[in-house]
Amino acid sequence: MKGSQNSPFQRALKSIPGGVNSPVRAFGSIGGEPFFTERAQGHKLITTDGKTLIDYVGTWGPAIHGHNHPEIKSAIAEALEKGTSFGTPNTYEVPMAEQVIAAVPSVQKVRMVNSGTEATMSALRLARGFTQREKIIKFEGCYHGHSDALLVKAGSGALTHGNPDSAGVTQQAASDTILLPFNDLNAVNQAFEQNPRQIAAVILEPFPANMGLVLPDEDFLTNLQKIAHENGTLILFDEVMTGFRVAFGGVQELLGITPDLTAMGKIIGGGLPVGAFGGRTEIMDFLAPIGPVYQAGTLSGNPLAMAAGLKALELLVQHDPYDRLNELTLKLRSAMLESFSAKGIPVQIPTAPSMLSIFFSENPVRSFSDVMSSRKELFKPLFHGCLEKGVFLPPSPFEAWFISCSHDETAIDQTCEIMSEVIKTI
Ligand SMILES: *Cc1c(COP(=O)(O)O)cnc(C)c1O
Repeated sequence: MKGSQNSPFQRALKSIPGGVNSPVRAFGSIGGEPFFTERAQGHKLITTDGKTLIDYVGTWGPAIHGHNHPEIKSAIAEALEKGTSFGTPNTYEVPMAEQVIAAVPSVQKVRMVNSGTEATMSALRLARGFTQREKIIKFEGCYHGHSDALLVKAGSGALTHGNPDSAGVTQQAASDTILLPFNDLNAVNQAFEQNPRQIAAVILEPFPANMGLVLPDEDFLTNLQKIAHENGTLILFDEVMTGFRVAFGGVQELLGITPDLTAMGKIIGGGLPVGAFGGRTEIMDFLAPIGPVYQAGTLSGNPLAMAAGLKALELLVQHDPYDRLNELTLKLRSAMLESFSAKGIPVQIPTAPSMLSIFFSENPVRSFSDVMSSRKELFKPLFHGCLEKGVFLPPSPFEAWFISCSHDETAIDQTCEIMSEVIKTI
């Protein structure tokens, strides 16, 4: 997988900026060339050069059932028979909305979109329209997609490439975004004091997972919500990553906290491009065509995408995999902790059901600045060592790893063994 003059990636570089259609796929922070995937099945990727890899990227979140799930495939095939897009209401949209409402505590009505980026961008516009206020609070290291106002100190690909801010975002677009450190209630209080009755919404990943997985302090989310509501400000949970993953109803179900608005994506599309946002009826009814906040999409609620997503959600209801996913996550964690401790390398491995990440740090990681002061360079040999031996980790120290329903004990045991060998060599 090393670079060569004639590699497929060298060819890609000639026709696609940076050779990739989304920056996280480039091996920017760990070096080397990305491989191409020929096909994927269950927890395995099969590369174009014939390697089989145990996959912990899970197409960056959607693949909670593993790749190429037979029932999701059949659902898409069945929908395909009837046509790919109608431009009128279709029979999949209402069951999808009803399923989301049943699953996610804060959602009484929901609007489908085509990506997580669209979901957060539209939900924020709605929050601004509803409150008639302009400013928003966002936390450092949280990623909410690539719309202008949210691409300020963002995580994920933006962070991986060493530039959490983007060129091309005007001062004006970013100037209504107030940036605060995660887990810092003093900073939150100060921001509200300095911007009385001006803050429409606080947007956050309730479990930030785009700077690696960072967990909220106990009571941080409840106190944050309390402060926001005392100031007439809406709480917008970006559960694009955590929705249907840490629990069927997301972090809000897991912790029993009900935000005003919720953005969703990834798992909800069953591997096709889907996002959604929802919340209380009184807020959602501010949307066009019945309200003054405009939002639209030619392919929104697309029948193929709805069929895939609906089946993905039905499978979660049917199998209720969360306890088992959590057990596998914790198993992987404890094996890694043991290997690192034997090697004398201090690490933090925060987990949520089906998610984990690793920080080379002696102290718990609570914020973006903690993330940045960890020993990120140690991730590189871990990543390449694992890849060499058949385990594909996210190609960046700032990403969460995902465990799917198709990762069995054998796959996890195999991973633990490979990890322990690799960790010895770091
Ligand atoms: C992935 C992600 C997004 C963006 O979703 P896209 O579908 O890539 O636009 C937004 N928020 C969070 C928390 C995400 O993890």
